[in-house]
Amino acid sequence: MPPRGRRLCLILSAMRISLRRRAPRSSAPLLPWLVLLVALGLTALSAALVAASDRRADELRFQSLVTRSQDDIAARLETYISMLRGVSGLFAANPEIDRASFHAYVQRLDVEHSYPGVQGIGFSARMTASAKDTLVESVRRQGLPDFRIWPEHAREEYHAIVYLEPMDRRNRVAIGYDMFTDPARREAMERACDTGLPAASGKVTLVQEIDDAKQPGFLIYVPVYRGSDVAATLEERRARLIGYAYSPFRVEDLLRGIGRPQEQSTIAFDLYDGNEPVADRLLYQSDRADVPPGYRPSLTTTTSVVVAARPWTLVYTTRPEFDSGISYGGLAVLVAGIVISAVLFRITLAEVRARAEAEAAVATRDAFLSVASHELKTPLTALLGNAQLLRRRVERQDHLPDRDRRTIRVIGEQAVRLDRLITALLDQTRLQSGRFAIDREPLDLVALVRQVVAEAQPALAEHPIALEVPGEPLIVLGDHLRLEQVVQNLVSNAAKYSPYGGPIRIRLERQATWAVLRVIDQGIGIPESALPHLFEQFYRAPNAESSGIGGMGIGLYMLKEVVTRHGGDVSVVSGAGRGSEFTVRLTLAPDPATPPESP
Ligand code: ADP
Repeated sequence: MPPRGRRLCLILSAMRISLRRRAPRSSAPLLPWLVLLVALGLTALSAALVAASDRRADELRFQSLVTRSQDDIAARLETYISMLRGVSGLFAANPEIDRASFHAYVQRLDVEHSYPGVQGIGFSARMTASAKDTLVESVRRQGLPDFRIWPEHAREEYHAIVYLEPMDRRNRVAIGYDMFTDPARREAMERACDTGLPAASGKVTLVQEIDDAKQPGFLIYVPVYRGSDVAATLEERRARLIGYAYSPFRVEDLLRGIGRPQEQSTIAFDLYDGNEPVADRLLYQSDRADVPPGYRPSLTTTTSVVVAARPWTLVYTTRPEFDSGISYGGLAVLVAGIVISAVLFRITLAEVRARAEAEAAVATRDAFLSVASHELKTPLTALLGNAQLLRRRVERQDHLPDRDRRTIRVIGEQAVRLDRLITALLDQTRLQSGRFAIDREPLDLVALVRQVVAEAQPALAEHPIALEVPGEPLIVLGDHLRLEQVVQNLVSNAAKYSPYGGPIRIRLERQATWAVLRVIDQGIGIPESALPHLFEQFYRAPNAESSGIGGMGIGLYMLKEVVTRHGGDVSVVSGAGRGSEFTVRLTLAPDPATPPESP
């Protein structure tokens, strides 16, 4: 292999290795990670927002159930208190009321239906020690021969449950009981007496709890004073108190019926006597048969209600049925967001890799073209020089046959063509790598066009050139070599794409501040669909390919680049089979004779 050829081979194999090395797979591109980071960040933010809004909605739902349940409890107890006020009014109006009348009164109240959950409605009478025996006698006469006041120890003041309806087996046990002897009941009774208002006791075990399964209980007292009005002063109230209308409550019986099915199945509550949820003051716990042991409710709230001037504390929690309805929108957004982020990451990664690979391929191609063109250029220059030398020598000899002369001419022409192709390739790679420079100097476009036409004409025997140029020079600031290539390109294309011959018209004229060059041929023309792509790199119109006319699709791309860098423009008017007219406009250099315009 000759040394130059071996060098080219070495260069090519080195480039192959470098291409392989340049494969971007191993590099860690930043963009996909950035995309992943942003997508995950947005996901986290949206998930947090959705979760917060879900949580708020759940809390509101819970709160509305709690409020309804609490209102139900307060409203139910308010009803009992109103009923007891009625009873107190009855005794205030007629302290001598007998057992039968009271029984009839309570029956008219229809306790079972109107006041469900109440254990009884009664009257506890107050008396001094001296009046005690009279009362016992009177009650015994009213049909309770065993009546006694208990506990029986001696004291200054006695209270006794005289009437209690309905007279079932539980309430029967309570008859005669002095509730004033029990501190919890006494506190409420004294409070009721002193304030003149209904008062609820703290947690007690009712005397009615005669079975083994006992429920916590409490009582509500409404004071009954002698006379039709409530006494104004404390002393007067204490003096005029004759007893209490009261109701004992078994808390579980009372609360079991309260609450609508929806609340009962979705929330649970614990009820405590007093201001704090203290274990030994627990009055009631919702049934939690459906709640697994150790279950942690998602929402909890503590509220309070005041029942007959006594505070109760309620601790509400969600049941599994509520919690299973809790929205997991935040979680769904998080999962979906992570999946989408991962997909975005993969897509961006693939894009970046594809782009890097494409860039590497383009870089390799450019490097190849550049090296190859350089390597070709050197022997070609020698070939061109020798061909021209040979041609000149042959022209001086008469004995050479025409055939040989033609052969030598063709060698020269093809060498020129090859040179132009290689120059175009080199320019294109220079443009790609940013090494394409334009050196501008004042030059006469008329002379330049004349020169190009004179050089081209001998090779274009079948294409007579009609040249129209102005008689005066058209000076532009331009790169002589590049503009020469522009004109050569237009002329050679006009000839190349007119395979059946035909004249080529070249017109150069001044139009205002422009020098306008038109190259018009009568060749195969350019289909309309190809026109928008004509100046793209490596683009060739379909009719050029189908006509078998060779080319690389670089010439017009370079031409446009050169003209644009000169501050000019290029356009084309054509149609398939209608010939083509290319127009290049370049700005004329300012005439030194013309003074510059004042600002
Ligand atoms: P090439 O001639 O090497 O293909 P060019 O960049 O010079 O590359 O031209 C691009 C394409 O434009 C050509 O392939 C051809 O389809 C079309 N073209 C250029 N000049 C003419 C012309 N005078 N007549 C018809 N088609 C032309």
